[in-house]
Amino acid sequence: ATAAPVLELRDVHTYYGAIHALKGVSLRVGQGEIVTLIGANGAGKSTTLRSINGLNRPRQGTIAFHGKDITSASPHEIVKGGIAQSPEGRRLFPRMTVTENLEMGAFQRSDRENFKEDMERVFELFPRLHERRSQKAGTLSGGEQQMCAIGRALMARPKLLLLDEPSMGLAPIFVEKIFEIVVEINEQGTSVLLVEQNALMALDVAHRGYVMETGVIALEGSGVELKSNERVQKAYLGID
Ligand code: ATP
Repeated sequence: ATAAPVLELRDVHTYYGAIHALKGVSLRVGQGEIVTLIGANGAGKSTTLRSINGLNRPRQGTIAFHGKDITSASPHEIVKGGIAQSPEGRRLFPRMTVTENLEMGAFQRSDRENFKEDMERVFELFPRLHERRSQKAGTLSGGEQQMCAIGRALMARPKLLLLDEPSMGLAPIFVEKIFEIVVEINEQGTSVLLVEQNALMALDVAHRGYVMETGVIALEGSGVELKSNERVQKAYLGID
């Protein structure tokens, strides 16, 4: 038998009031995987992340993390359990420095032992943040804020990192860098669920992917399979 996946959603239905945003979503993230969720605006990608991190509780279905049911857990318990999300609308503390923002990421952790080591790891991943460590987060460029938000999520030592459009609004050079770092984070042992509009980049780095359409999973496959799928090419990769 294979080990329980890191994350498993089964038939998840999530609403905004009367709006039925997720209509039976099932997906899994295995140990050590980068899994991407692609799809058009409004397909339900962000809602899927909000269902996992406890911000919008499903009305039906289950979410399991390492085999444990977290469907009704609070956002706080979920972070404590090992799921961190970035950028969460890039909610940095603008008047705090980069270092202080990173420290806040470790706040919910029970072990403070490896704190220094983790800070160094974040600065190794993002040398730019090290240069700007004493600068107030509100004065960083868009790309640097994105890095700071990802760094802060990493400070929570997550077993699973949820990324909501990490490339959004970034210059191409930063986009490449962010994806390189996602791969590096994954190689260091963190499983990743990556929501992206930039389907080509996402499918390049992901082991597997799911295509969402209006609240359901329309297709799934390996990154390579989805990239060569005609429907994916037409709808999401601009190839016809
Ligand atoms: P985007 O890339 O634009 O964020 P998405 O795939 O992440 O798209 P969601 O944001 O999850 O899509 O939206 C899924 C559906 O839920 C859409 O029909 C959207 O209009 C609806 N929705 C999202 N947020 C709310 C909200 N706060 N109130 C009501 N409906 C919402």
